Amino acid sequence: MPMVTVKPGQKINLSKINPNDTGKIKNKNEAKTLLAQNIERMAELQNILYAQNHHALLIVLQAMDAGGKDGTIRSIMSGVNPQGVQVTSFKKPTEEELSHDFLWRIHRAVPARGMIGIFNRSHYEDVLVVRVHNLVPEAVWQQRYEHINNFERLLVDSRVTVLKFYLHISKDEQKERFLARLEQPHKLWKFNPGDLAERALWDDYMAAFETAFEKCSPAVAPWHIVPSNKKWYRNLVISQKIVETLEGLKLEYPAPYEGLDKIVID
Ligand code: ATP
Ligand code: MG
Repeated sequence: MPMVTVKPGQKINLSKINPNDTGKIKNKNEAKTLLAQNIERMAELQNILYAQNHHALLIVLQAMDAGGKDGTIRSIMSGVNPQGVQVTSFKKPTEEELSHDFLWRIHRAVPARGMIGIFNRSHYEDVLVVRVHNLVPEAVWQQRYEHINNFERLLVDSRVTVLKFYLHISKDEQKERFLARLEQPHKLWKFNPGDLAERALWDDYMAAFETAFEKCSPAVAPWHIVPSNKKWYRNLVISQKIVETLEGLKLEYPAPYEGLDKIVID
């Protein structure tokens, strides 16, 4: 599937990656069938992950506004056991969060063993919005790429698999989605006029994303750039990668108590 997995140090030009790509998938119906299979398989694998209590999975989602982070979470997690999943949305840091290092609030939200954790935005905001708006001096954010790599390596070494997805939409698609929010009463609440100021900085954001992908894609935790103009394709690609990743962990149910075969229940 034409999702781009960034190689360590690889320079990325987002304008060369087609957000409309749908690979070999011909239409929404075909994608729907495959997605349903993935969701079912994910539920089985999550059950073992939870029972075994040995590995954790962290899914990081980043995108421009209206890029589809919320929709992705709703779709791909629709079949899993809610007890084994935790979603954390990272907003503008609070006073308390700002009085700590930038990874403090992030580390606390990393899923425990047995759990799947989803980050709706993440520590990458600290080299994206923070860089675009000069919220800290350049010397500070420049150091963060290395801090992030070290942090993620700690997680991987601690049996937390890190899956990072960038939902790649075009500027035109964002416009369509903003207009849809304005036109539909049940979507109006999602429209934040402040998002237009960020849209005006589109090119700066693209440059910040490209640097993050280049600098923070070690082989153990690369960025995956997912063509996301078509929601059905985005959901399929991401669910597929999650299933493959969980399969790769070779999960096993823990050994049952001994002597269970002799148990009699009156
Ligand atoms: P939606 O996409 O559905 O609108 P959202 O994730 O944009 O949801 P909002 O409350 O609208 O949620 O926005 C969160 C804001 O917080 C974003 O503008 C994001 O850039 C900002 N933010 C997140 N982390 C940081 C950070 N470390 N420093 C500064 N701003 C941050
Ligand atoms: Mg927003």
